[in-house]
Amino acid sequence: MWFLTDEQRMLQETVRSFARTELGPKIEHLDEIEGFNRESFYKMGQLGLLGITVKEEDGGTGLDAVSATLAMEEMAAVDASTALSYLAHSILCVNQIGVNGTKAQKEKYLPKLMSGEHLGGMGMSEPGAGSDALGMQTRAEKKADSYLINGSKTWITNGPGGDIFYVYAKTGPNKRDLSTFIMDSTMPGFTTGKKFKKMGMRASPTGELWFTDVSVPAANRVGEENQSVRAMMKNLDLERITISGISLGIARACIETATQYSKERKQFDKPIGAFQQIQERLTEAAAWYEACRALTYQAAKTWDLGLMVGKEASMMAAKAKLQSAQMATQVGLDAIQILGGYGYTREFPVERAMRDAKLIEIGAGTNEILRVVIARQMLGEVADALTSGK
Ligand SMILES: Cc1cc2nc3c(=O)[nH]c(=O)nc-3n(C[C@H](O)[C@H](O)[C@H](O)COP(=O)(O)OP(=O)(O)OC[C@H]3O[C@@H](n4cnc5c(N)ncnc54)[C@H](O)[C@@H]3O)c2cc1C
Repeated sequence: MWFLTDEQRMLQETVRSFARTELGPKIEHLDEIEGFNRESFYKMGQLGLLGITVKEEDGGTGLDAVSATLAMEEMAAVDASTALSYLAHSILCVNQIGVNGTKAQKEKYLPKLMSGEHLGGMGMSEPGAGSDALGMQTRAEKKADSYLINGSKTWITNGPGGDIFYVYAKTGPNKRDLSTFIMDSTMPGFTTGKKFKKMGMRASPTGELWFTDVSVPAANRVGEENQSVRAMMKNLDLERITISGISLGIARACIETATQYSKERKQFDKPIGAFQQIQERLTEAAAWYEACRALTYQAAKTWDLGLMVGKEASMMAAKAKLQSAQMATQVGLDAIQILGGYGYTREFPVERAMRDAKLIEIGAGTNEILRVVIARQMLGEVADALTSGK
């Protein structure tokens, strides 16, 4: 891409090589057993990847959304599961503490999160509140110098085995009365529930968090009481841009595998790449991938330059994720089709890629919710009338 800086190209090379050497040899087995490459986080810490967007003055690497998206793309081209866990750690937890935390909170929590000693995650979704995140029921009740937190979170990436969580809870009677707390999994009353068995992203642990009378010091509240909605939505935008990088990495790997296979596999005495129907799948995949790549990095660059704010920024992030996620699933399916029977087996990584790709159509806002976000920006009140059934 023409606008990448030398620093970003270097980062791209570093993550590409890290993914090939550290993640590549392990992912097939970890996908099979639903394991987790926890060790890779220590190496990511050494490479400065865990605090990628945290300011240098706070001990981070001080890079931007374009860089974080590049890191996701390179990691996901080899191992999308670890890329997803990396996203939950670095963007949903570490970045948020870096952007919104106090000096004391940053000093207390960032060093171990950025070295990889601690694994981070973010708790927004609940059993009864997925797309309708503001419908969450977890409550934080103010005491003298602490909050008593009760409730549960579900679908939490890095929930099983995680140490530090950036958790949203209700602190008032209204739907938008949300506050944020940094919670440590060793706090009394904090337990983790079951780890989910999943179709894809099997080497990224997902599970439940349970809070029973967890006493959290008031010093762990991030930002003002009842004022977290705006910061939560803003981080969702960054999540949608960077997670699109995961879709791009998955698709790129599928296109490479399918192209190579089309050159080598012969049927009817010809490489299958000579057949126009195979060419159609390959060329459509390559063109859609490039279009999504342009859209995603445009969204990331726009974010970095602060060219769009509020709803406009949300719409840009939603467009990038809506297209990239659908593209990666379709490209995964096309790669399987091109590889025929081999594509349907675990001999080649494309079936894992397709299973992994599907998650991105659900997590960080489903396709349907992203269309709602885009429609609201395009149609204003008319869209709200439609979506609320008025
Ligand atoms: C592997 C994985 C990892 C995750 N990691 C995290 C994490 O780290 N932290 C976290 O907080 N959450 C996480 N999530 C949760 C994720 O963000 C939610 O799954 C997602 O927001 C959808 O919520 P839901 O699953 O409850 O589906 P629901 O909201 O129940 O939706 C069900 C269906 O209804 C549709 N729907 C809902 N509302 C509308 C509407 N208004 N218009 C049209 N259609 C609608 C949806 O699009 C979907 O098709 C993760 C999920 C998964 C699967």
